[in-house]
Order: sequence, then C-alpha cells, then structure tokens
Amino acid sequence: ELLVNQIAAGEVVERPAAAFKEILENSIDANASEVTAQLVQGGIKRIRVVDNGTGILKEELSLALDRHATSKIRTLEDLQHITSLGFRGEALASIAAISRLTLTSRKAEADHAWQIGVAGKQLSQPKPASLAIGTTVEVDDLYFNIPARRKFLKTEATEFAHCEEVFKRMALSRPDIGFVLQHNEKLRIQLGITDLRRRIMAVLGEAFGQASLSVDEQSTGIRLYGLVALPAYARASRDAQYFFVNNRFVRDKLITHALREAYRDILHLDRHPAFVLFLDLNSGEVDVNVHPTKAEVRFRDSRALHQFIFHSIHKALASTHS
Ligand code: ADP
Ligand code: MG
Repeated sequence: ELLVNQIAAGEVVERPAAAFKEILENSIDANASEVTAQLVQGGIKRIRVVDNGTGILKEELSLALDRHATSKIRTLEDLQHITSLGFRGEALASIAAISRLTLTSRKAEADHAWQIGVAGKQLSQPKPASLAIGTTVEVDDLYFNIPARRKFLKTEATEFAHCEEVFKRMALSRPDIGFVLQHNEKLRIQLGITDLRRRIMAVLGEAFGQASLSVDEQSTGIRLYGLVALPAYARASRDAQYFFVNNRFVRDKLITHALREAYRDILHLDRHPAFVLFLDLNSGEVDVNVHPTKAEVRFRDSRALHQFIFHSIHKALASTHS
C-alpha cells in the first residue's frame, strides 16, 4: 500500500506547489469562504492551509487519507458530470505517503475538532483538538522519506514562486472567497471577497484592469467571460494568461490557438496576449479526468469550441478597433 501510494504521489505531487494546489482545491470544494495558507521554505518544510469550510466528521478523517476514497462522486455517472475540483480521492493519500501530515477538522455541529496524523505509514487515532469550524491541513517535511525526490527540488525561492502561482490561479477563479498567503511568517498576499474585475486587479495589478476589456459571450450551453488585455498591456506582459474551464485552471493548445488567432486577426499581434478568461460549459461537454493533476481537459466538440472562443474574442477586440 505504501509503495503504491508513493508511486501515485510521484504523479500527483511533483513538487510542493502540486501538493499545495490539491489542498487548496479541497478547501474550495468544502465551500470555504476564507482560506489562509502558510508556507515555510517554499512549502518544502511546511504547507499549512486553514479553511472555514464544511469540515470532516471524526469517523471520516481516516477515510480522507485513504487512497481512492472521495466523498465527491458516488457513481460512474457522476464522473461524467464533475462539478467539484477534486474527484479522484488520491491527493491526500499521496501527500500523506511522502510527508508528515496532520488533518484537523470540525463540523459545525461538533463541539470540538478532531485530529489525526500520519507519517509515512503510521496513522494515529483521532484525538480531540481545538479549532474553529472548518479544516486545517498541515504537511511537514515533504519528501522526507524519498531523498531522491528531495534532491530534485529547486531553491526555496523557486518552489515558493510555483506555490504563489498556484495560489494566484485559485484566487483569480474565486473572488467570492477571501485568501491569505504567508511565506516564512511574512504576509505576501491578502485578498478580501470582491467582484471578478477587482480581484483580477488585486492579483495582477491595476494596470491590467485599466488596459483590458470585458468579454461576455454566450451561446447555447456555453459562456465565455473575463478580461482580455488591450495591446498596451498585452505587450507589457506575456505571462498573465489564465484560462479556466468550469472554474478549473487549464492550459490547452486549442484554446491558446483560438485566442492567438483572434488577436492576430484584429491587432496583428503575434505574441501571446494577456487574459483572464472563464469558459463555463455543461460538464458533460468536457472530460477533466485525463491526467492525475487534472491540468488537462478534453472537449467533446473541440471544433465548435474553437470557433466560439475565436468569435467571442474577435468581437470584443473589434469593438475597440473600428
Ligand atoms: P478528492 O478531493 O479527490 O475527493 P482528496 O484526497 O483530495 O480527494 O481528499 C479526500 C477527501 O477528504 C475529500 O473527498 C473530502 O471528503 C475530504 N477533505 C479533504 N480536504 C478537505 C477539506 N479542506 N474540507 C473538507 N473535507 C476535506
Ligand atoms: Mg482533492
């Protein structure tokens, strides 16, 4: 079991930022409205995430660390219509196999919290703990039992940069959630609950908000909305490229291509434009179960999707360029 988990862990937990992403996703899936993340040494020494979500029952704490145990889907049919960020039930088990993990949680109806800990293979019995309603996940000494993997980690600063990027993606996708990020006990990012435009400006800078235009296009069962940068900003920044499919950050060639073509057509701009865009479509139209990290998706009708994105962006850009 441990070996299986360690192998799976290699796929899911490539670096601290990957563990961080999974833990943040769980807080979002638990309907948290406040998420505080405290990292130490780029997440290598410690990743701690505190949320005020629904919490976990005492009886289900150990299940949460079980491989392939998920509370989010129950049937194969559900797999066709995934609305949560997680669904594979392997993230916590994988992380627990390669770190010292502590899970503390309290449901609204419980009068105190319960905590379990696991280091390698030893799972402790739940013991009473004190915590506000919600869940705290603490991951210490990632890769402590796989020194080979530890050696491949980059500097603390690089690992933190990856974690920060993961954090920004989450923050962009959920302006209705308050987020705090600390690193080595210093406050790095603090974001109050707000609307999408303000959140984008808080995360990516005022300049992006001022030099961008809104997109909001709909067709049957599909909607594309967000901000795309005008040339002034597009030239200044190339890496502000955020595309979310049903609120999940994805990198997808088809999407990038459609956007690029629209920019080229209207602005004769050949480099990557900056954008924060959200594509919402019926969950049956997209398969998110392509890879363990869930960063890739497959679309049922990719041709129609390409056209829709191209036309939506084309229209938005053309309106400022006539
Ligand atoms: P998945 O998210 O795919 O279900 P995970 O391994 O990430 O699998 O988490 C396992 C289970 O632990 C989840 O299904 C959920 O029931 C529970 N869980 C994990 N983190 C939290 C959290 N922050 N709040 C509430 N429940 C959680
Ligand atoms: Mg999960």
